[in-house]
Amino acid sequence: MHDDSRSSAPLRVLIIGAGFGGLGLAIQLRKAGIEDFLILEKADEVGGTWRDNHYPGAACDVPSHLYSFSFAPKLDWSRVFAPQAEIFAYQRQLADDHGLRGSIRFGCEVSEATFDSPSGHWQVRCTNGETFHTQALVSACGQLNRPAYPQIPGLERFAGARFHSARWDHQVDLRGKRVAVIGTGASAIQFVPQIQPQVAKLSLFQRSAAYVLAKPDRAYRPWELALMRRVPWVQRIDRALKYLQHESRALAFVSFPALLKLFYVSFRRNLMRGVGDPIRRLHLTPDYPMGCKRILMANDYYPALAQGNVEIVTTGIREVTERGLVTVDGREHELDAIIYGTGFSATDFLAPMRITGLEGQELNSAWRDGAEAYKGVSVSGFPNLFILYGPNTNLGHNSILYMLESQFRYVLGCLQTLQRDGLRYLDVKPAAQQRFNLSVEQGLSRTVWAQGCHSWYQNAAGRNTNNWPGYTFAYRYRTRLPELHDYDCIR
Ligand SMILES: Cc1cc2nc3c(=O)[nH]c(=O)nc-3n(C[C@H](O)[C@H](O)[C@H](O)COP(=O)(O)OP(=O)(O)OC[C@H]3O[C@@H](n4cnc5c(N)ncnc54)[C@H](O)[C@@H]3O)c2cc1C
Repeated sequence: MHDDSRSSAPLRVLIIGAGFGGLGLAIQLRKAGIEDFLILEKADEVGGTWRDNHYPGAACDVPSHLYSFSFAPKLDWSRVFAPQAEIFAYQRQLADDHGLRGSIRFGCEVSEATFDSPSGHWQVRCTNGETFHTQALVSACGQLNRPAYPQIPGLERFAGARFHSARWDHQVDLRGKRVAVIGTGASAIQFVPQIQPQVAKLSLFQRSAAYVLAKPDRAYRPWELALMRRVPWVQRIDRALKYLQHESRALAFVSFPALLKLFYVSFRRNLMRGVGDPIRRLHLTPDYPMGCKRILMANDYYPALAQGNVEIVTTGIREVTERGLVTVDGREHELDAIIYGTGFSATDFLAPMRITGLEGQELNSAWRDGAEAYKGVSVSGFPNLFILYGPNTNLGHNSILYMLESQFRYVLGCLQTLQRDGLRYLDVKPAAQQRFNLSVEQGLSRTVWAQGCHSWYQNAAGRNTNNWPGYTFAYRYRTRLPELHDYDCIR
């Protein structure tokens, strides 16, 4: 157990979470000569998203050479879009290669953190009772860490198997069963084609159809792998080209939504190729502007939905009975299993942790109208707290790891400032946070996400708390170094 005494020397940095965010920051701390850190991870392994999402067909939808750290390139990805097992193995390798395991406390779920102004330290408590003291607290909990479950009356009554795609129960044998899938988001479009050939009947409960484009996925050819091994800069060029290609899509998302018409043509082509039946095609054609919700990619989703054992149910669900689901038209759908493809509590950010800052202020109440942070990282009144993949730093068009790398540099800059200037704490000024968020809101109002549909990027009040409304290189520029005039620097 950790030495739990107030007199023990506080840590310099405490990181919550050992996904890409926590691992990447830890590597950067080591490189900068900061050894005095610890990662607290509630699970018993590193990996975050890629440890938890082991459903059949799970894979990234940003090419792997771009969806991996620039400072830890992997030259032998098997496919353009690697499957979950390979990404998870890459993360475990990162932890091993950089000797991080000794600096991770597994099975430690942070429940609360309280800032002590006189010392400038955070006191952090885990659900198992362990406590820690640290100068800087970094949240690396991700945006997509806690599954969202549908709120349907009677769910607990259902006698068959039921689980969320992010908690896939591999013990449940779906072969020959009548299976319902609730939701048609990024996970569902990956696992539906995998289970459709096995099940007797697949009922897909769809609230809104997704725009699904063809996925330019393929295995790397042996000569390509050999070339990258021998001439590693080929991988660097490939990565740079993929970055530019993805970044150019931001033009359509954030500047000229009309450009999305070009993608609409690809969507129609993918749908026409996959589904022959015009009625099914109608069901699978979204009724909102393209890009307003996340655009998805799959080659096997539409062909799977064209099969005879699939029913697309667009009528709303009224309740769950012991035998199955009842839709609002009174029809009972008898089932053996229900799979929730209903996504994550993405707008909750650090909740349910209780984070208490200056003057007893709680983060959850400071964020009651929606999460916001200066540069997505700092929150006024919560000194020395740094958030990775925080509010308004999610993307619809490029790799989250690029955003994380920008944040690593920024947080490192803040940590070095604390040390260099002998500061007790750094607290972002309310006016700076307001100014930053005004610019985010103005940016968002021009984007495709503001065209009237409801997506997981928005909280219950309809505020987009998740997406960055611009180019990723612009974000990198804005986070290149801490602008100290925007902070109260307290000695
Ligand atoms: C199925 C799926 C596919 C995705 N595909 C892509 C993609 O192709 N490209 C892309 O850019 N992004 C993708 N994403 C987004 C993805 O979440 C990010 O790219 C990235 O993995 C986020 O890393 P993270 O470390 O910030 O968060 P996470 O990976 O979510 O890790 C957070 C960690 O914090 C731990 N934790 C949380 N709360 C606590 C607590 N209170 N105490 C202790 N530990 C805690 C969790 O257990 C977890 O290990 C995908 C997401 C999902 C769900």
